Amino acid sequence: MIKDISMSEELVHSYIKETAKYLRLPGNVQILDTTLRDGEQTPGVYFSPEEKMRIAQRLDDIGVDIIEAGFPIVSSDELTAIKMITDAGLHAKIAGVARALEEDIDAAIKCKVDYVHLFIATSNLHMKYKLKMTGDEVIKRAIASTKYALENKLKVEFSAEDATRSSPEYLKEFYSEVQNAGASIISVNDTVGVMTPRAMYQLISEIKTIAKVPVSVHCHNDFGMSVANSLAGIEAGAEQVQVTVNGLGDRAGNARLDEVSASLLILYGIKTIREFRQLVPLSELVAEYSRMPVPPNKPIVGANAFAHESGIHVHGVLEHMATYEPLTPELVGHKREIIIGKHTGSHGIRFILNKMGMYPEESQLKEILEIIKKLGNTKEKITDIKLKEVAESVITKSI
Ligand code: MN
Repeated sequence: MIKDISMSEELVHSYIKETAKYLRLPGNVQILDTTLRDGEQTPGVYFSPEEKMRIAQRLDDIGVDIIEAGFPIVSSDELTAIKMITDAGLHAKIAGVARALEEDIDAAIKCKVDYVHLFIATSNLHMKYKLKMTGDEVIKRAIASTKYALENKLKVEFSAEDATRSSPEYLKEFYSEVQNAGASIISVNDTVGVMTPRAMYQLISEIKTIAKVPVSVHCHNDFGMSVANSLAGIEAGAEQVQVTVNGLGDRAGNARLDEVSASLLILYGIKTIREFRQLVPLSELVAEYSRMPVPPNKPIVGANAFAHESGIHVHGVLEHMATYEPLTPELVGHKREIIIGKHTGSHGIRFILNKMGMYPEESQLKEILEIIKKLGNTKEKITDIKLKEVAESVITKSI
């Protein structure tokens, strides 16, 4: 029998709890899922309006707080998809993205979103080469667009695009102005994924000194640190985190919903979504629609996330799952697998054979193991059927 335990002392090391005392963790963290907006910006990914609707429904079932449904100005198809989602009466708030322009906000109004996620770039690089605007002009535009959205009864989240390459002094001025203009959330965007966890902690701590409204973090994965940077932002007090399913998004993608929500729960004790068990099915659905399969070694939802081959590990897990599993597969809708291969040991073989209703004696088990280890020295996968064949031949031979 495998002893299953859900969250317990054995899963989390005391270092984590010790460290938490020195952090500024908020009581609650809101999840904004942007699979349907930033996620769809993944090169080559397109979701039909029906697929968007189905993903939105599943995100709602799982319990994300905000679904960023799209970028209304982009196309009429996009507008239709967002409208379908806002008409569906989901529990989650529905957001649409808009540049700090009246025409973009008008498109968001047409979709009847609950709130508009405005953005404008704040780094010298973007202001000079892309926007061709001064810092003062950017702030004026941000204030004007916030007021325009509010006049039209839209709640505003305001993102500083490329915030992490902007001057911290300018950023603080920018956020102060937009929150004074009426924005209800301010978002720090690591648009090109150039932060490190320590730098993120520092920056969010700075922003928190002027923030009168919740702070959000939007992190990209260009150096593989989107999740670490998001968590560092939360450690410094950020109350909202932006994620996508399977880490879809521009270039190397965004922070992943599964990794962020599971880490927050297991490592920080902060519960965000309701239905963790839906994480694997949701990941599969989005992999199918996006035509981007999930690599087997992906944490939480990958095929190998709870698979064990090494004899030492299998023995450990069979005695007590926490020996080699930091969270239970059942929690996230996954399953534990014992894989047969060259690293397999007798405990694993016995476990699988017992499940098949076969009970070899010690000497037989040893012989089966020897044959399996030889077979494991090739690249062929040893299936349960093959193991059964081997076991049957050994057992019948000795009768
Ligand atoms: Mn982005």
